[in-house]
Amino acid sequence: MTDPAIDYLRDYVAIPSVNPMGRSDLPGEIVGEAAFASHLLEQLRGLSVDAVQVGSPERPSVVAEVQAQQAGGDTVLVASHLDTVPVDGMTIPPFDPQVEGGKLYGRGSCDTKAGMAALVAALEKVLNRGVLRRNLILVGEADEELGSQGVYDVLTNLAGRRPDWVLATEPTDLRVVNAHKGVVHVRMEARGRACHASNPDEGKNAIILLSRAALALDALAQELSARRHPELGPATLSVGILSGGHAPNIVPDHAHLVADRRVLPGETLEGVRAEFEEALVAAGVSDAVEVVSCSLEKPTLSTPEDHPAVVGCTRALAATGQPGERSGVAFGTDAGVFEAAGLPGVVLGPGSILQAHTAREFVEIDQVETMTAFFVELLSGA
Ligand SMILES: [Zn+2]
Repeated sequence: MTDPAIDYLRDYVAIPSVNPMGRSDLPGEIVGEAAFASHLLEQLRGLSVDAVQVGSPERPSVVAEVQAQQAGGDTVLVASHLDTVPVDGMTIPPFDPQVEGGKLYGRGSCDTKAGMAALVAALEKVLNRGVLRRNLILVGEADEELGSQGVYDVLTNLAGRRPDWVLATEPTDLRVVNAHKGVVHVRMEARGRACHASNPDEGKNAIILLSRAALALDALAQELSARRHPELGPATLSVGILSGGHAPNIVPDHAHLVADRRVLPGETLEGVRAEFEEALVAAGVSDAVEVVSCSLEKPTLSTPEDHPAVVGCTRALAATGQPGERSGVAFGTDAGVFEAAGLPGVVLGPGSILQAHTAREFVEIDQVETMTAFFVELLSGA
């Protein structure tokens, strides 16, 4: 019998839930998690599961609580984000899921609707058999791909109910991920003095000042490559945006840049900011260039290897015949946001991060089926 998760996944992919990511040029009918959230609510209520919508009506998240049918288990929160990245440049139909060669194609197939499809299929099976041994808090959160607003909405609505641990589904090729880097965005602004470009010495060129700062950041990036985590590799820094100026014949009075800094467990926001400020001093531009914001986009994840989340997931994976490998990854996830809120956990899901966000996003069907089997083990074995 085919795994119902595959049918659920087709349904999910066919419902656009694109994260607007601050853009205004995306067609309104594909933007936002609302349609997917209401589909999921309906599906869960069909299983007699008590599910509610939280957050704003345009960007809702879903929370469902299911009590164990048999005593003895802990409480696990499984979170699978509802949003996908936009579809620009995709070379396959994003919302018309196609199956070919053992793969299911479409936006969100891998990142991360497959995780939710497997969870719902497994929950259905376990409930029907009457063997749910863990209390489950099922979360479908909005906005994972940008600001994690969905997790914050969910945390406010948990109202004191604390899961023992969290599993965030993301494409990890079915590895148990207990550590990842965090993401910090740093914005710098340069203030110069405008004047006519025919007489540039009268002005102060903000682009040139900021370019010196950018080169100092590149030197900082080289230094950071020596700061290594045994599993996650080095801390990194990349200047992603540098812009400024109004016209060729005006010496620019303003320019800004935004850098992406991947932090290791243990690094602090204050420490990151101080290093950027030191780079400005080293470049001799600290009087004209300023760090205007330093924001933690995704916190790090650092769950001990002997934590029940790691042990429980590794055991359930092994029961499905998988090696149950544990590893760290470079990308940030909502598991870090939960950890920062005092809820430790792991990341685990079908599909590869190499397929996420791509022009031909797909997930291997057999990995989705294994994920369903994994959830059956996890939910029915305490
Ligand atoms: Zn994802």
